[in-house]
Amino acid sequence: MTTNSNFKLMDIGLNLIDAQFEGHYHGKNQHPNDIKCVINRMLENDVEKCMLTTSCIKEYYHNLELCEKYENIVPNIGFTVGVHPCSSMDMVIEKKGDTNDDEKICELNLTKFEELKKIWKDLLENDSKHFMAFGEFGLDYDRLFHATKEVQLKVFEKQLEIVSSLTSNLNKKPPVFFLHMRSCGEELLDLLDKYSFNKDQVFIIHSFTDSLEIMNKIVSRDNFYVSFNNCSLRTEEGLENLKQCPLNKMFLETDAPWCAIRKTHPSYPLLSKALEENKDELNYKQLDYEILKKKKLMLDNYLIQDRHEPCELWKVYLLASVIKKCSYKEIVDSIWENCEKLF
Ligand SMILES: [Zn+2]
Repeated sequence: MTTNSNFKLMDIGLNLIDAQFEGHYHGKNQHPNDIKCVINRMLENDVEKCMLTTSCIKEYYHNLELCEKYENIVPNIGFTVGVHPCSSMDMVIEKKGDTNDDEKICELNLTKFEELKKIWKDLLENDSKHFMAFGEFGLDYDRLFHATKEVQLKVFEKQLEIVSSLTSNLNKKPPVFFLHMRSCGEELLDLLDKYSFNKDQVFIIHSFTDSLEIMNKIVSRDNFYVSFNNCSLRTEEGLENLKQCPLNKMFLETDAPWCAIRKTHPSYPLLSKALEENKDELNYKQLDYEILKKKKLMLDNYLIQDRHEPCELWKVYLLASVIKKCSYKEIVDSIWENCEKLF
């Protein structure tokens, strides 16, 4: 498979095991599994490296299976391994409190943490080429209905403690941290400071949506990076964040099937204008794909309405070039350099 231009892109946040790529939406089956078409479309549109997000232990096994199945056509496919803050309840045991009948306390499920530790340890020892990052882990104070702050903190800190023990004295570069940071201010950074990690440990805050002040604090740290997607660019502040983020500290991702660009985003008119202005130079096959409603028959060159795909990553790059007022090539080359350095 060859790409249609000279550009190389990496999608560092992709949820390829999401049920939507199997045709399931809100529990209903709408079309056959089309992961293979999704991957072909991705390759046709210059995405030659990708990192699949893992949110819980079960998902790790799915991602591993998927990587092994498709590594022949995507040699640079890999995954993160860790537990997302919204999956924190997977890692605890709920017990009745002593005082009040209704009170429940959550204790860490140490058997689950042993399993996670063993997975990390084996992947490190076997030098797995697919193991690209620890994570996705972190804190999400927007979605406390999945897990309370207390539970999220316990589960995240336990993961940090284990990673620290496994990698502090590792005699090679450890996989990067793929961090989820939502409405938790500097608490996440303070937590990271509590533990000692390998001197070469790299930290990427993905799907960045926080303030410019916090972003500046992040990028001023050595080995810290920020990753943007369409959700990061749904506000004026988000556009300003990307504008101010140094190119050597930046990654871009789709977070597909989530985070498609919406007409209500301030980035939408910028992208429309850029597509119009550059239409003679943009050589992406994705522009020729038709968009179908979910229930239509699946064919190779169709996208599904409202489902984001990695083949659309180049549009996030195009947007970044408009926001940063630099050429598309400059954005692609700089970020590819970051990708080559870290993955
Ligand atoms: Zn996330």
